[in-house]
Amino acid sequence: MQVAIAGAGLAGLSCAKYLADAGHEPIVLEARDVLGGKVAAWKDEDGDWYETGLHIVFGAYPNMLKLFRELNIEDRLQWKEHSMIFNQPEQPGTYSRFDFPDIPAPVNGIVAILRNNDMLTWPEKIRFGIALIPAILRGQSYVEEMDKYSWSEWMAKHGLPKRIEKEVFIAMSKALNFINPDEISATILLTALNRFLQEKNGSKMAFLDGSPTERLCQPIVDYVRDRGGDVRLRAPLKEFLLNADGSVRGFLLRGLDGAEDEVLAADLYVSAMPVDPLKLLLPAPWRQMPYFQQLDGLEGVPVINLHLWFDRKLTDIDHLLFSRSDLLSVYADMSNTCKEYADPERSMLELVLAPAKDWIGRSDEDIVAATMVELEQLFPQHFTGDCPAQLRKYRVVKTPRSVYKATPGRQDCRPSQKTPLANFYLAGDFTMQRYLASMEGAILSGKLAAQQIVSDLQAGSVSAATDKALATTSA
Ligand SMILES: Cc1cc2nc3c(=O)[nH]c(=O)nc-3n(C[C@H](O)[C@H](O)[C@H](O)COP(=O)(O)OP(=O)(O)OC[C@H]3O[C@@H](n4cnc5c(N)ncnc54)[C@H](O)[C@@H]3O)c2cc1C
Repeated sequence: MQVAIAGAGLAGLSCAKYLADAGHEPIVLEARDVLGGKVAAWKDEDGDWYETGLHIVFGAYPNMLKLFRELNIEDRLQWKEHSMIFNQPEQPGTYSRFDFPDIPAPVNGIVAILRNNDMLTWPEKIRFGIALIPAILRGQSYVEEMDKYSWSEWMAKHGLPKRIEKEVFIAMSKALNFINPDEISATILLTALNRFLQEKNGSKMAFLDGSPTERLCQPIVDYVRDRGGDVRLRAPLKEFLLNADGSVRGFLLRGLDGAEDEVLAADLYVSAMPVDPLKLLLPAPWRQMPYFQQLDGLEGVPVINLHLWFDRKLTDIDHLLFSRSDLLSVYADMSNTCKEYADPERSMLELVLAPAKDWIGRSDEDIVAATMVELEQLFPQHFTGDCPAQLRKYRVVKTPRSVYKATPGRQDCRPSQKTPLANFYLAGDFTMQRYLASMEGAILSGKLAAQQIVSDLQAGSVSAATDKALATTSA
């Protein structure tokens, strides 16, 4: 079967990979001139990389780790010590660590929490541990039920003091969905905590050894092409062309640089676009269907990724850091954490600014200036005295609509990969799968869409389009 897939993010690429494995012929159509969507990266004029987002791979990502093994690129993951490291705003320039010993879960997590006495008191740890018991005992069904509460509401319901939220969970909410605990659904935090506590290496983190575009996406493209599929850049889907019964007749691709639009007909079709552009492209007949109406409840959240190149080393920490500051979320010194960005003399900080709704419309200069104020608090030793650290250059990458904003009630709006239409499927981190909006979620969604296609074909509920002559004709 020839399967046309719109979007070359991780969901679209993973869908293509698993369809190729099943003997089909995927063709991925990407609007931009770069692979990867939210993991896309670019090289500047000096040859330095800058990225859409600072990306961490977790031990709790089984589908992503399996994909690395299948592509034979496991050695590109640079695993870090099993720790979580937080800045301490009250003691600038110092860190508080949760170190996970090499013993089975959940004991390693419990030991890590019990050994850290900087952030939580003993009574707070005990009260929080008791509140987590239903999630541990009842698992995912409890976690899903809690989607009716924000994290702040869930904490209040369990009588947990606001201090715990301030100390730990503002940082975690911002890291997981770029919003604060009063907005984020309790399901998101509970899902992450459950994975981290139940899997020995769930919270272990790895950095890719270079840019995701070259080191992860390109190998998927090579794999797909070797098996007869293809990936085309600068091929934006402009319109879904429909048959009389509402199923897809073809993808109308926008012609660029004066070229004519093009009709691409295939046997089956997948959208692996983010939810926001998908909603804009929905044809009128589909908008009447409850399946597509549920998408109205999903909307991308703004986030900003900053890259700051300094004239010296600010830290030798080879890990992700939780800033616990107002503006910033997580950050890392990529000159330590990532082989291809390595520099023994000078730091390159990659920082996520979140929540970003009040900053997304501001100038790069304003954003960098505000970030520098926070950095002066995080690294006071480098920004005071006669010879403060100098910023050599910077890059700001804004994503006005990134992953869907995971406020309470969103779980009910997430669609399955199977649509009501016989020849059309969805993939994307926002579609229903158990791993939140993440790289793991995107890869799993693509795999689930491919599996759904394979099982529908086996069941005979879908068949090849008859007129292949339509393929790649002019509109
Ligand atoms: C700042 C930031 C930090 C993050 N950090 C992490 C992290 O540490 N760990 C983690 O697991 N996840 C992280 N994520 C989330 C992760 O990047 C995403 O969940 C995942 O990459 C989404 O993949 P996707 O394929 O579903 O969507 P996307 O990556 O958005 O891919 C969709 C593709 O569709 C294309 N497209 C759109 N319209 C059209 C059209 N009309 N025609 C053709 N193509 C079209 C887009 O250009 C894009 O390439 C982060 C995200 C951001 C923004």
